[in-house]
Amino acid sequence: MTIAATSIPAVDAVTTLQQQRHAFINDGPPTVERRKANLIKLRTAVLAHRCDVEEAISADFGNRSKHETDIMELLGVVQSIDYLLRRLRRFMKPERRHVAAFHRAGRAYVEYQPKGVIGVMAPWNYPIALTFIPLATALAAGNRVMIKPSELTPRTSALIQRILAGSFTLDEVAVILGGPEIGARFSALPFDHLLFTGSTQVGRMVMRAASDNLVPLTLELGGKSPVVVAPGHAGRSALDSIVFGKLANAGQTCVAPDYALVHEDDLDEFIAKYHEAVARGYPQGPTSPDYTSIVNDRHYMRLQALVEDARTRGAKVIEAGVTPERAAERPRTLAPALIIGADDDARVMREEIFGPLLPVRTYRSLDEAIGYINARPRPLALYYFGNVGADSEALLRCTTSGNVGINNTLMHVAVDDLPFGGVGPSGMGAYHGIEGFRAMSHAKGVFVQGRWNLPRLLRAPFGKLAEFALAFTLRPRP
Ligand code: NAD
Repeated sequence: MTIAATSIPAVDAVTTLQQQRHAFINDGPPTVERRKANLIKLRTAVLAHRCDVEEAISADFGNRSKHETDIMELLGVVQSIDYLLRRLRRFMKPERRHVAAFHRAGRAYVEYQPKGVIGVMAPWNYPIALTFIPLATALAAGNRVMIKPSELTPRTSALIQRILAGSFTLDEVAVILGGPEIGARFSALPFDHLLFTGSTQVGRMVMRAASDNLVPLTLELGGKSPVVVAPGHAGRSALDSIVFGKLANAGQTCVAPDYALVHEDDLDEFIAKYHEAVARGYPQGPTSPDYTSIVNDRHYMRLQALVEDARTRGAKVIEAGVTPERAAERPRTLAPALIIGADDDARVMREEIFGPLLPVRTYRSLDEAIGYINARPRPLALYYFGNVGADSEALLRCTTSGNVGINNTLMHVAVDDLPFGGVGPSGMGAYHGIEGFRAMSHAKGVFVQGRWNLPRLLRAPFGKLAEFALAFTLRPRP
């Protein structure tokens, strides 16, 4: 598997994996100082390329504002590196564990050891954040890393390779460029751990490929994340937050609210407030420099087909905000739209939308909303707008989703101390927080025998002492 990239030497993935593993074994696990130095090097490199990143992403998407790239990608990377730097020493500390009476004279602890070589496969929608945050986590845990970015953002992926080649040797961090075929071969490599971020469909293939080598996996997948608006809560602040979550990156966000469940009495207000919130956020309409384009023609056509499918099934499509018709003036620009009354068989209610379309479904009682969510695959995120109290607690207790946002959207991902990951078809395992560090570490249990060795009493030849000890320990108890 050899992939040439402009001005960067070709990287052979199989050889690179061998070299990284060899270097990992030879050098031993890096000290806390070395790991911190790596994180600082990564932060310096990313910040030094801030403008390059903004330009490459905008060119790959057609249009994406530099502010959006700074907020949704670079801020997250820098914040997560700072978080890891502050906590690394504590994360790395061996952890004392409980010892049962029989073993009391001994000592037990868990040591978090780097796994070795971590594979990272990234999607195109946040190409920098979803490459560099897993990379930072893997480096903090003391690993070597091989990265396969997406082929759909070619300028950004080449830039990622350039940035990392300027800061790390290939036996520390290597980038393999290529499309699905390279992805398939990459996912079949015998890594010590593989973190895949992408679609549920490709996630299944990656899991199959990894199973041949029993490679442990973290799968960060997609799906349909609902937003539930409590009766009487379709107000300005809820709608501003829902519009932010839906239209950031033009809805090309794994944790974007996919569809809304709104009380039937509030539908008109929801539509009116959605319209106002879009107009407030994008006063120049969909050709605003702050409004992102759809990444490529295939996704643009897919989204148009979703709208057409809903329309032909009798749903009402309401374009939102100012001058939605001007979307046609800019390539691959899709006006924000609400889809009202789409039936459950409509594609917008079955497939992950990943674009600026928001189907709205009405409900009569919270139980009905919970039933609707539970009848579908477990989502990556779930959002609730309403009072914090019995209803929000019932929703939290009775549904299972990767994460939850209450009275906000997307922000749970930016809280570095929270784990981030899906459940079932929306993912497996998590990173961010201590969960990320641990996912990329091996938790090695160690038991050190003390001077007094009570279990010795239980070795053959069994005598009176063993009998006494067993009679005491296994005495009948309630
Ligand atoms: P994708 O699954 O098409 O691609 C992801 C990666 O897999 C890319 O690097 C791609 O080259 C590679 N790939 C493609 N086909 C492959 C194959 N047959 N075998 C192995 N690798 C292959 O996903 P995408 O379109 O880039 O991203 C969008 C999806 O990612 C959405 O479903 C979204 O919800 C999900 N996503 C999830 C998260 C999360 O953190 N949970 C974040 C962002 C995106």
